Amino acid sequence: MLLPITQVVEGIFKIGPLDTHCRTPWTSPHLVMGEERAAILEPGEDGQAADLLQALRSTASGELAMDLKRIAYLIPTHIHLHHVAGANVLLGECPNAKVVVHWRGAPHLMEPTRLNESTSQVWGEGCPQIDPIPEDRIMTVSGGEVIDLGGRQLEIIETTGHAPHHISIFDRLTRTLFPGDAAGALYDPHKNARSRPDILPPLFDVEKAVASVRRLRALNPALILRFGYNCVDYSPDKTLEWVEKDIRAVERICREGMQQKISSAEIGQRVVDYYKSVGVALPSGEDVQREAGMPGGGGPIGMYRYLIREDPSLEMPR
Ligand SMILES: [Zn+2]
Repeated sequence: MLLPITQVVEGIFKIGPLDTHCRTPWTSPHLVMGEERAAILEPGEDGQAADLLQALRSTASGELAMDLKRIAYLIPTHIHLHHVAGANVLLGECPNAKVVVHWRGAPHLMEPTRLNESTSQVWGEGCPQIDPIPEDRIMTVSGGEVIDLGGRQLEIIETTGHAPHHISIFDRLTRTLFPGDAAGALYDPHKNARSRPDILPPLFDVEKAVASVRRLRALNPALILRFGYNCVDYSPDKTLEWVEKDIRAVERICREGMQQKISSAEIGQRVVDYYKSVGVALPSGEDVQREAGMPGGGGPIGMYRYLIREDPSLEMPR
């Protein structure tokens, strides 16, 4: 099967969406072309790498037919494995490429035992896994770096909150922002749908997430390209405003629910009711349960844990 390749703005190509062949969400990597070098943003999963490589090499689009030697950087926004697990396969085919990663994430790519274990706990069997990445194929960043592709620069922005090692990428030439999970997750491929703040990871941090969103908003991006489901967002300022508002609302709902000692399922229902009232695009069926803490789901664990770290008198809801 030949994947759809679309040029979204000058020199930025959307590839996919790629079928993950497992429970994790479908993803769309992007190729950013400079005059001398190119970067793949959000390389995706190991099971997707073959399709991605085929798309890059393909001449069918009339636009790509990439010489893989030109690919100098693979830039996942963070190392949650559905964003990065394809890196080893791609490194094998792209001899000049390095993986760009926040310094806090780098040790877990070099020695991924813990990363693989925690991913299995979250996604269950058949989820993406990663082999160790050699140190000399990794470039660590901390935010503020500018990657020159020749005629265009990618700015690295530290956007922790969703995870302590999360970065976003900003293409200065077209003012395109790749916020990863810092601008929430979007389940609805219709442009301008409202995303759901991604508050699930155990190290989620409200204040850092809000500070990150403000940092991104200050860039005044013209366009947001999302990692999941092929989404292109032409209302970046609105989206980022909503993300901050929704993080604060869910924080309030969870804190009140925990103070009232109601169940995780009840708190989850309140969260879902809030999302519906403001028009957040939600997945269906069991995925809603998983996202919001309904019976059978894991709950907004990241938010609960954050609130307990802030106020140890609170307890994890049952
Ligand atoms: Zn993530």
